Amino acid sequence: MFHSTNFNSNEVNFKTAILRGQALDRGLYMLNQIPRLDAQVIFNFKKFDLPQLAKNVLSLIVGESIPKKRFESIIEDALNFKVPVEKINQNNYICYLDRGPTCSFKDFGARTLARIMEYFLNEENKEAIILTATSGDTGGAVAQAFHNRSNLKVVILYPENEISELQRKQMTTLGGNVVSIGIQGKFDDCQKYIKKAFADEDLNHLNLSSANSINFGRLLPQTIYYFWSYSRIVEFKGEEVIYSVPSGNFGNLMGGLIAHKMGLPVKKFIAAVNENDEFPNFLNTGKYEKVEPSRNCISNAMNVGNPSNLARLIDLFGGHMDEEGRIIKKPDMDNIRELIASYSISDEETKKTIKNFYENYQKIIEPHGAVGWKGLQNYFGDKVRQNNVKSITFETADPAKFPTEIINLISIKPKLPSTLEKIKKSKEIRNSLIITSYDDFKTFLLNNY
Ligand SMILES: *Cc1c(COP(=O)(O)O)cnc(C)c1O
Repeated sequence: MFHSTNFNSNEVNFKTAILRGQALDRGLYMLNQIPRLDAQVIFNFKKFDLPQLAKNVLSLIVGESIPKKRFESIIEDALNFKVPVEKINQNNYICYLDRGPTCSFKDFGARTLARIMEYFLNEENKEAIILTATSGDTGGAVAQAFHNRSNLKVVILYPENEISELQRKQMTTLGGNVVSIGIQGKFDDCQKYIKKAFADEDLNHLNLSSANSINFGRLLPQTIYYFWSYSRIVEFKGEEVIYSVPSGNFGNLMGGLIAHKMGLPVKKFIAAVNENDEFPNFLNTGKYEKVEPSRNCISNAMNVGNPSNLARLIDLFGGHMDEEGRIIKKPDMDNIRELIASYSISDEETKKTIKNFYENYQKIIEPHGAVGWKGLQNYFGDKVRQNNVKSITFETADPAKFPTEIINLISIKPKLPSTLEKIKKSKEIRNSLIITSYDDFKTFLLNNY
């Protein structure tokens, strides 16, 4: 069962949590109890391939709500791409989460969620409209994942001036059940409109739901690559690993925290953020202040000044944060600090890291992965170097999504993967709609659906 992080609405089962996206009291759904895996079972994941591992972990949470065979085919179909884990030096590894169809780690969550939702909606004989705010990559992953799924329509809001052409094309070239709208504003505005729409009674009849990481169904599959990368590199049962996690809305990190609660042996999580430094400041001072407006950085999918998933993180540590980002009850800060370190990485440092990484290892890392890699260096910098502890940094996007930066820094044009090549050549269906307020957005929804 799931409770709302605002504790002001009924507990619901997995199916309702997925179909609703957000709780009725504007809180986020969180598991009441997180199932636990034995250390030996986790170590034995070594013998599994990715879908096998995913089925074993996720079935503990999905339970009986989807028939076993059906759930297995959902997973096999959703997670049908490679997740390489490469040794970079001595004890430090990179796990590449960028090999899905939109070349960002969001393919994990979006593809799995789309299939699970489709299953539940068909079962109920209902339709739903998925509202999604994107800071860059979610929109593309959601658009591609939900395109042509039955009983589902998708509306995506993105900040017109903050995303790359390729990111936009991933959303605007599909048509059919997918509509995307650029707004004159920031990601946080997109997110605000969408949260407001969910709470708006005039829109109740539309059966709105969310594919943002406020939907628990997005987080669920994000536990998988933690177990997966772990199982590729550890040598003994219970071996602890450090994870460096490029973070924006903190869905990526939440996947890891849930995996940890399930029993994954973790020495430390590093929440690596760009210049939007509300979280490291919170760890330092115990006071939470959002960054408003959010700062524009080259790791643009992480330009988030008030991460949605902090409400879940704080819930996990016994506190309560409301939907406005106010802390109602303080979480156990000592426990948080023991498990999570956080560093803010400036654009200057990100660029330097991309350069150095190429010089040292002849491999290209893109801005989000670079924030993660630099976060790891900062962690080692103020610790005694943890020579015998292995680390995994997540590379969350393909460098080809950021060609200008990469060319400027290392004078190499990253090769476009074939999936992106195809999208780049496709024709856009641009929406001329101008949305500058919540009311504009509401009117659009009422007139079109
Ligand atoms: C979304 C995203 C992130 C951050 O993930 P959150 O779940 O928002 O913390 C990091 N890198 C890339 C490429 C992303 O698209």
